Amino acid sequence: EPAPPDEPARRLAQQGIQLVQLVYADVLGVQKGLTLPVQQAAAAWDGGVRVDGASLEGFMRVEEREMRLRAGGEQVFVLPWEPGGRVAMVPAGIYTRDGRPFDGCPRERLQAAVRRLDGLGVAVELAFEMEFYLLRRRRGRPEVRVPDRTGYLDLSVRDAGEPVRQEIALALEGMGIVVESVHHAVAPAQHEIDLGWQPPLAAADHLLIARRAVYAVAERHGMHATLLPKPRAGTHGSGLHVRMRVRPAPGSGWSRAAVTRHWLAGLLHHARPLCAVTNPLVNSYKRLVPGFEAPVYVVWGRDTHAPLARLVAGWEAGELEWRAPDPCCHPYLALAVLLRAGADGLERRLEPPPPLEENVFELDPAEIAARGLEPLPGSLGEALDDMRLSGLVREALGDYLFSRYLEAKRTEWDIYRVQVHQWELDQYLPIF
Ligand code: GLU
Ligand code: MG
Repeated sequence: EPAPPDEPARRLAQQGIQLVQLVYADVLGVQKGLTLPVQQAAAAWDGGVRVDGASLEGFMRVEEREMRLRAGGEQVFVLPWEPGGRVAMVPAGIYTRDGRPFDGCPRERLQAAVRRLDGLGVAVELAFEMEFYLLRRRRGRPEVRVPDRTGYLDLSVRDAGEPVRQEIALALEGMGIVVESVHHAVAPAQHEIDLGWQPPLAAADHLLIARRAVYAVAERHGMHATLLPKPRAGTHGSGLHVRMRVRPAPGSGWSRAAVTRHWLAGLLHHARPLCAVTNPLVNSYKRLVPGFEAPVYVVWGRDTHAPLARLVAGWEAGELEWRAPDPCCHPYLALAVLLRAGADGLERRLEPPPPLEENVFELDPAEIAARGLEPLPGSLGEALDDMRLSGLVREALGDYLFSRYLEAKRTEWDIYRVQVHQWELDQYLPIF
């Protein structure tokens, strides 16, 4: 006999959960949601909980005014930093009133990308390496000047961030989000959390919740966690390297090595327009510069310095690291476009260019041009220009999210580009 649809809510009530937060990521990847007393939560697994579509960022089509939030699965995350463990978070999908997945539901776009891969007979698992800064506060405001001089893999009792980093790891483990390791990253006050391997949808759900854990635990320690890709000029930015394991389903006819090659080729082929989604902020492009281990060119390698893609072992092993994304990207949409690009490589049997064995930053511009090495977009504006022309990104996001995302980001870029920055005044006013 199948379990009644409200069974998960009943189980939560028995566990002592009092509040259920239905959480989703809006068009821009910002966390939004509704909190329900557990007695009201059955609807989350049943018909869905009503939300006013007109008030949702990017969900303003008049005929879709009344929307439903519905629990995306059975996995719930009990938030350990909430006193008494009484609050559970549940990733939700957005549905129309008649129960169809809404065109503007980012989680559904990722599911569509996964279905396409299933259809090709290929499975993928993902693991995120998320970097972030833990900043001190002064008079209530985050201080970008860092509190210490700690560096890569430091285990120092003077590291103000260490207890926070450890508590984040414990919180994630407590919620059922597997952590491979946590450590100090390269720049002072910069930290990294490596999450465990997951199928795509769970990986995105875990990232959404993990970002909240980072913010929430830091907050409780009076620190300001930031996922901003480049909070400080002149030192390392924060990336979100996406490790991928691709493999053919049994009986699919693919060889392991061919799947890995086509997958990598598809990602490289679409690398520039992908950035608009995986590197979503004006600030994202200040990370993609030489000198700080972030990728700058569309190159792949095995052990080379800061390539865009790294083949972790041989082709047979099927493991790649995609290094462009940053932790401010939309968890669902970023994975949707990456998976769609990999699928395109498979469908068109694309082959990757030869690997770059040397350090691209030591090549002079003439050599770079002679080898036809393409740079990643230099700004959000450039990335959006590429995205607008990308049929693949349009297809991955669907027309609705594609146009909403592009419009919102174009506005962001237009506001930014007419600002006059302090640097320009300092540099030019004395001279011109
Ligand atoms: N922080 C670098 C980045 O922006 C990565 C450093 C590393 O690979 O450890 O991607
Ligand atoms: Mg890495």
